[in-house]
Amino acid sequence: MIGDSGSRHPARHWRSLGKGRVKCLLCPFNCVLAEGKTGVCKGKQNIEGKLWAVNYALTTSISMDPIEKKPLYHFYPGSSILSIGPNGCNLGCDFCQNYQISQERFPARRLYPDEAVALAVARDSIGIAYTYTEPMIWFEYLLDTAKVAREAGLLNVLVSNGEINPEPLEELAPWIDAANIDIKSMDPVFYRKICKGHLDPVLFTARRLSGSIHLEITNLVIPGLNDADDMLEKLCDFVADLDELTPLHFSAYHPAYRRKTPMTSVQTLERAADIVSSRLKHVFIGNVVSGRNQTLCPGCGKVVIARRGYSVGAVDIIDGKCRFCGAKTGVVTGV
Ligand code: SF4
Repeated sequence: MIGDSGSRHPARHWRSLGKGRVKCLLCPFNCVLAEGKTGVCKGKQNIEGKLWAVNYALTTSISMDPIEKKPLYHFYPGSSILSIGPNGCNLGCDFCQNYQISQERFPARRLYPDEAVALAVARDSIGIAYTYTEPMIWFEYLLDTAKVAREAGLLNVLVSNGEINPEPLEELAPWIDAANIDIKSMDPVFYRKICKGHLDPVLFTARRLSGSIHLEITNLVIPGLNDADDMLEKLCDFVADLDELTPLHFSAYHPAYRRKTPMTSVQTLERAADIVSSRLKHVFIGNVVSGRNQTLCPGCGKVVIARRGYSVGAVDIIDGKCRFCGAKTGVVTGV
């Protein structure tokens, strides 16, 4: 549970402002906290003039998931990964699809870094995915666990909203192998009003990780809110500028938390995919039944990863290249 006194761990990336106040420098909120106060994310607390991570090693969920569920379609396709996540989030999206664990207090179980790694090994996982809510607010635990996991030969996967400051991102990046960054909109006003967050740091995070690790992008499409053609074109341009092989996942929204807008139709998702497909080679539709979740070779157009829901069939890729025509696919198969 948030604030469990047994879970305290010295926080990283903060400074004292004097008179018992501290400033957290982990994410763009840069919370200034008086004695006893907790930050926006509820994961950091000022205790006696020092900043502590009060969510250290507390996870709300432990599950072996298909890597496709993250979603990561082009990183070890068909594998399973131990998935864990903290209670809380630094954003406050009114449409949050996981609000019970991100916005409310939720029972959490203690799982220290060596225990998480031992569990991943015991379950024959390819690694550990830090996911479900926002893993950046778990920074100290995330970093410690990622280091132990790397030593044990496991992979580290991040599923994040990208709201982190450049300095901690730089410290974390070398320990991460793959990430899915959620870009909720290309409109800063949307981020400010609907998510209580900031767009620019998210774009910075995606740019920083692109090229250095395997990266995929998700956009939750909310009808009438972030699905205007010009917004989708901006998103397309941003992702294409990273790399035209970067997978973009359009995910269906369902009414949740404070938002009552009806769920996204398949037609809306298809329209979004049509708009961006002119510049991007890998565009997928998720959270609904759709034929648009096979991976096609960007060279010859043949199916190179057959996928049905989260189940993967044949993978016709060798060393990242199409088995039929040899074109580069951007897929990391690990073999
Ligand atoms: S990590 Fe939490 S406490 Fe630190 S700045 Fe971000 S929201 Fe505030």
